[in-house]
Amino acid sequence: MIVLDLEWNRSYDKKPLDEILQIGAVRVEEIGGPIVDTFSVFIRPTVHKRFDPGARKLPELQASVQSTVEFPVALEQFRAWCGGETAFAAWGGGDDFKALRQNCEYWNIPPVPVETVCDLQTAFSYLVGAGQQVALWRAVEYCGIPDIFDFHNALCDAMYTAVVARWITPEALAYRPERREKSRRLPSPRLSKLSFSKQPRRKVGPQPTPEGVLNARAGRQPACPICGRMGSVSRWSFVRPKGKTVPLVYYAVFRCQEHGRFLCRMTLSLREDGTWVGRRSVPAITPELAREFEAARQGGTHVCRSEGGKKRKSRPTGKPSAAADRNA
Ligand SMILES: [Zn+2]
Repeated sequence: MIVLDLEWNRSYDKKPLDEILQIGAVRVEEIGGPIVDTFSVFIRPTVHKRFDPGARKLPELQASVQSTVEFPVALEQFRAWCGGETAFAAWGGGDDFKALRQNCEYWNIPPVPVETVCDLQTAFSYLVGAGQQVALWRAVEYCGIPDIFDFHNALCDAMYTAVVARWITPEALAYRPERREKSRRLPSPRLSKLSFSKQPRRKVGPQPTPEGVLNARAGRQPACPICGRMGSVSRWSFVRPKGKTVPLVYYAVFRCQEHGRFLCRMTLSLREDGTWVGRRSVPAITPELAREFEAARQGGTHVCRSEGGKKRKSRPTGKPSAAADRNA
């Protein structure tokens, strides 16, 4: 199994080619298994005269510019390294492979045979109950993997993808979104049926804004009600309020590796001094709570941002965004 990632310069002129600038890949014996070999080649761009804004942000762009290897040679190195392997995995289901085929066609060389592609992004997004495709850096953060390498270096992204795959269950790998459901939300995540004792509530804040409470790290790390292991919340769902009032009740799903998924709830209140506090709880699931959660899932979503100055990495436009992946 080969986990592949590419960086490319998106076509902006009359030549319809997303020109590959780097091929990065790691070999694993199975999904979630250890990395046994790595491959990286920087490719000298020769087709387009300029870089699109996304490509300009690539951390290793100069390595491609200064490379003496052109695509045909790079591809033969990659083909040799693959050694006839035809099972691939990637973060996203098709864009990398489409770009690979397109570049082979442009240079008039035979494509790398690809028989199966495992889309680890879709599996991971299903696993964590996200309503949309989760970006790689967010998945890395969710899994608590130290982000010591640059994102958007194809080799690093392939490594991160292979490491995140350790969290993915066979059930999530088997999940296939139905085409007609593409624009809708993913199905409701299955919550743990284990019973647990009443959990203590946790105060979050005060913070100057409701968003501050929702983003606060203290509020986003609920504990598994069975074993106490820390979970992670990356987004909150809420029922859209009528008018311009702030929604006061938010729901999120978090997961314990051992005990499954649980629901947590954050209730906001405005204090007399104008600041906001939250009370976070991990309630037992009742039919009423399940209905409230489902209504919130159909409502709005608050995607959490880190508090403080931690640098965030967003996907540059040289690579399709998570949303674009989903609609491709
Ligand atoms: Zn647990």
